[in-house]
Amino acid sequence: MTLLIVGTIGLDTIETPFGKKPDILGGSVIYAGTSASFFAKSALVGVAGEDFPKEHLEFLKSKDIDTSGIQILPGQTFRWSGYYEYDMNQAHTRDTRLNLYTSFDPKVPDHLKKAEYVFLANLDPDLQLKVLDQLESPKFVAMDTMNFWIENKRDKLIEVIKRADLVLMNDGEIRQFMETPNIPQAARKLRQLGAKAVIVKKGEHGALLFNDGEHFAAPSYPQEELKDPTGAGDTFAGGLMGYLAKTRDVTEANIRQAIVVGSVMASFNVEDFSLERMRRLTQKEIHDRFAEFKNFSEFSALAK
Ligand code: AMP
Repeated sequence: MTLLIVGTIGLDTIETPFGKKPDILGGSVIYAGTSASFFAKSALVGVAGEDFPKEHLEFLKSKDIDTSGIQILPGQTFRWSGYYEYDMNQAHTRDTRLNLYTSFDPKVPDHLKKAEYVFLANLDPDLQLKVLDQLESPKFVAMDTMNFWIENKRDKLIEVIKRADLVLMNDGEIRQFMETPNIPQAARKLRQLGAKAVIVKKGEHGALLFNDGEHFAAPSYPQEELKDPTGAGDTFAGGLMGYLAKTRDVTEANIRQAIVVGSVMASFNVEDFSLERMRRLTQKEIHDRFAEFKNFSEFSALAK
């Protein structure tokens, strides 16, 4: 089953305590699509400029990703520059240049309009809505966002949230958005705004699911190889949605399973800059790490 994803295609300049890399491949749709491609066919919608290196498109094709919804236009590719200090849960933005995304008119190719599984990755909510409006009858729509859009397009963001089955935000974002320091309260408020299910990503502290009366906590991986957390959230969401699209099962039990898949994928992605770790990742490594997650989060009932 194909997973349709819209988001940014970017060239990132990243600085972490482990190095500085200019103009490396990034963007929300790139991370999410690559991660999802390990489980399902992913099809991307986005825009890049003529400055976007062709080898990056070749990389996507090598992952069997459908790139027919990617427009290459005269102009500059989206650019984001950020840095992390020792607390790598917190990305600090130096500069965001939307470039071609300011005038982007996303076009979902005809053969993808019937997509049932859809991920609206971090992007201008107006563009997320434009993509949603072109789809015939999506079965399961997830969306992500970030402080940039919370600050600049709050009302449009709420419109997207109302139309999504699953809303992903990180802990800092949901606190900011719902104006409360308490995460369960923030998730409840977001659900009152119209979100059906909410996942709060807590970086190196795991992820929480808030659904109808249900709560699930996924652990994070005790990662000692952390080099660059950029894209962890998108990689998490791509793995989660790729797994849902592959299994075609959106029950609570399977969403829990998919959250762990997402956590596994994100745990690999942070081991290197850009998509470098994803390039060499194997299915066996994914299976082995999933088993590790199962082991370290399993415990028995309390003794009588
Ligand atoms: P994350 O998973 O949150 O670490 O996402 C990192 C990616 O988000 C980077 O590769 C950036 O290119 C991209 N990004 C940064 N700012 C924005 C924005 N305002 N809208 C969409 N994508 C962004």
